[in-house]
Amino acid sequence: MLSWVAKLSLPVERFKKHMGFSAHHSIMSKRSNTDLLSLPPEDLARALEKHFRQRDQPTYRIDQVRRWLYEGLSGSIDEMTDLPMSERDALKDSFILTELEEARVEVSQDGTVKHLWCLSDGEFIESVLIPTRKRLTLCISSQAGCAMGCTFCATGWGGFQRQLTTGEIVSQYSASRRWAEHHLGTTISNIVYMGMGEPLSNRKAVHDSLSILNQGYAVGARRITVSTVGVVPGILELAERPEQFRLALSLHAPISELRLSLIPLEKRHPLPEVLSALKRFNQSGGKRITFEYTMIRGVNDALELIAPLVELARSVEAYVNLIPFNPIPYQNWEPSELHRIKNFAKNLNKHGVPAAIRETRGRDIDAACGQLKAHALVQLEKPRQS
Ligand code: SAH
Ligand code: SF4
Repeated sequence: MLSWVAKLSLPVERFKKHMGFSAHHSIMSKRSNTDLLSLPPEDLARALEKHFRQRDQPTYRIDQVRRWLYEGLSGSIDEMTDLPMSERDALKDSFILTELEEARVEVSQDGTVKHLWCLSDGEFIESVLIPTRKRLTLCISSQAGCAMGCTFCATGWGGFQRQLTTGEIVSQYSASRRWAEHHLGTTISNIVYMGMGEPLSNRKAVHDSLSILNQGYAVGARRITVSTVGVVPGILELAERPEQFRLALSLHAPISELRLSLIPLEKRHPLPEVLSALKRFNQSGGKRITFEYTMIRGVNDALELIAPLVELARSVEAYVNLIPFNPIPYQNWEPSELHRIKNFAKNLNKHGVPAAIRETRGRDIDAACGQLKAHALVQLEKPRQS
């Protein structure tokens, strides 16, 4: 366990400033400049080449900037100290670099670390670092809030604030990696898009962020998992990509009627449609699918559900993660009993479906799956959107 305690809250005055005039002003003044962290590596090279050519600068300047971004994990253009001051100023005239303000850091007793980041317009998002023996996994947000309204998820209850830009997604990685290297002495090995938001409802930004993390920061595609509640066009788009990014489907119920009571999107994209998209994904070359199944006592843990779950998992060669439900403030559901979860896992395994029970991490700091709700810091309750 970490010996130091980091729990810094954003002071109220700073919050007011963020929500007031200065937030508006900073967006308006920066919007016209391209964000270096939003450009996929090829586009970045092209944009920098044009920029430095116009300034009669040697081509090695492009590599200098790339190195600062992807290896130096620069948080600002000012940090690019091997560029002459005049070149840093010129870069700042044409580009910006998304900066995340660390509003709060909380460290769980189990070593899980939750970051609350403040964005340039005063919105808040969260990301979580999850250390295990062999890995350091970063869980990132793709939206501020979420519009999907799943009944078991705190983010869903909080409603949708806005899409994140590519730079805001990518900088969660660069800022968290910087933090981890400095405080934990280790680097991030895996990334999961399982924070706030539905990644496949923010497709352009998420696709570009995947390219940047994979080609720019050199995180292997198989170490990156995109989690979706079942946005079919997004799954099909991901199937078309040549890289072997992993896909997690938040299934939570193997039959449509039950799933609909948990996940409103089931109405728009019912299970059979999601399944055929997953088959396309599965057939598009060595790509792995995981089913996430949050086990809620008396809701989706009946033994009769094992057979349809086996059938679904086998049809797309999916691995099943059983997650004990993490309680949230809005309803009084409880996690299934451990013996029931174990029984599910045993039965799945018996029928040839690999299944594991995912240990809950960071529950004491509300960092576990489904518990992220960044604006809780500033807004105690928000009515549920209809
Ligand atoms: N929107 C995406 C990714 C973010 S949610 C998705 O739904 O897949 C990340 C994971 O947390 C999903 O598998 C989601 O179903 C799960 N989750 C949400 N609320 C939960 C809760 N209260 N307890 C356990 N898991 C939860
Ligand atoms: Fe959104 Fe995922 Fe939560 Fe559903 S489970 S509300 S899709 S974040």
